[in-house]
Amino acid sequence: MASNEWLVALLIAASLGRMGTSPRAIPLETRLPYVQQALPVRVGIAQYAQAVKVVPGARAAVALECDDGTKSLTLAKGQALFARPFDCAQGRPQGDRISVEVQGGRIACRRVTITAPAATRVCSWGVRSREGTYRGDIEVVRDSSGTLSAVNVLPLEGYLEGVVAQEVPLTFHPEALKAQAIIARTYALFTLGKHARQGFDLCDGMHCQQYRGAVSDRRALEAVRGTAGQVLAYRGYLAETVYHTTCGGFVDDAYRVWRGYLAPYLRARPDMPGGGNPTGWIEDEDQAAKFVHGEGFAYCARGPRYRWTRSYTTGEVQRLLEANLPLLIGAGNAPGRLIDMVTDGRSPGGRVQTLRIVTDSGQFEIRRDAMRWLFGDGKAGPDGLPSTLFCLRTERDHDGSLARLVFEGAGWGHGLGLCQWGADGRARAGARAPEILEYYYPGTRVIDLAAYDGRCEWE
Ligand SMILES: [Zn+2]
Ligand SMILES: [Zn+2]
Repeated sequence: MASNEWLVALLIAASLGRMGTSPRAIPLETRLPYVQQALPVRVGIAQYAQAVKVVPGARAAVALECDDGTKSLTLAKGQALFARPFDCAQGRPQGDRISVEVQGGRIACRRVTITAPAATRVCSWGVRSREGTYRGDIEVVRDSSGTLSAVNVLPLEGYLEGVVAQEVPLTFHPEALKAQAIIARTYALFTLGKHARQGFDLCDGMHCQQYRGAVSDRRALEAVRGTAGQVLAYRGYLAETVYHTTCGGFVDDAYRVWRGYLAPYLRARPDMPGGGNPTGWIEDEDQAAKFVHGEGFAYCARGPRYRWTRSYTTGEVQRLLEANLPLLIGAGNAPGRLIDMVTDGRSPGGRVQTLRIVTDSGQFEIRRDAMRWLFGDGKAGPDGLPSTLFCLRTERDHDGSLARLVFEGAGWGHGLGLCQWGADGRARAGARAPEILEYYYPGTRVIDLAAYDGRCEWE
């Protein structure tokens, strides 16, 4: 690399932001083997399992890595293989070996790999039970907790077919499905290795992207195959293509949602025909109230939780505070009795910046997207407030004490990057996938990694 190229790389790394949780700078060429040489990805399909059952849909080869070398055997179509942690003391797994029951015998090994030319059924039992059908190899390994992980090893494109089928309704317009396929590919390549310590690249849940195995739906296959190898790049780097279900009418600036998160292609924009909002940017509480009570003018107006209401009694909020506040702002912050709750500040897209909780033992503040988890189980997940784009109304008893808190909001998800239902609305209005992506990730470009030679011309 020439010296000025080093400088450019450094500057881009800086502009992508190395501070806080900002995206890492991942040069496109580092991910080429997954597209150009079909290097497989490793997807964790069972974690912390106490038992895994594998049933191949066709005659399958089994390789067992044992202490005295690798043993091979064959499973007939429909013949089951059971794997359990080898040794249990008082019901708790120990050691690093797997007990494999197959064809009436038991073998101890460290890793099992099942290779079948047809889809394989995998069931697992444990903290979470799972059942699914997968193409590609299945590996069973012990994890550091002593339980089992099952890993689906398959080409990136096959994995993406399963992701697109899970992440959006397949009734979406084909161009919206293509946009989803491109960002799912980009996001997968960006996040690869997140689970390296567990022995796989990506998990199959919302933490990475949702994946439930093989699909045969023509619409998912066409979206992935019609965009094979295409990713979204910012200069010579992979964009971190975060996305969400429904923005409610505005997508937002990255740092307004996640602390210290700077991504030049995640910016506040209205998600409405004509590029504008009849009520303008949300600049004050009156406009916010008008906006969350307004109907059907955004591209995502058909999306789930486009507008929503959540109502809590003071007692319910008190219990949530006691359970979740220490998780969100640090142990030792036990709240007193709730007296009031107020919002403070809004992003350009109308998202509440600070939630102030007034109790008789002091005030507490939760900022940006984290405030949603106060109303769930204290960590990111599906149970919190749908979004931070809301107005908070309080109702009081005759004596002036707080009786009820009513949140009236818009949208579902963090509100950064592509709005899935907005993408469908745009596709139905005639936009093609690259145009949709250019809107939600301004400044990025679709690059075909299959034809990429390491050179990227940016104006
Ligand atoms: Zn994950
Ligand atoms: Zn939207």
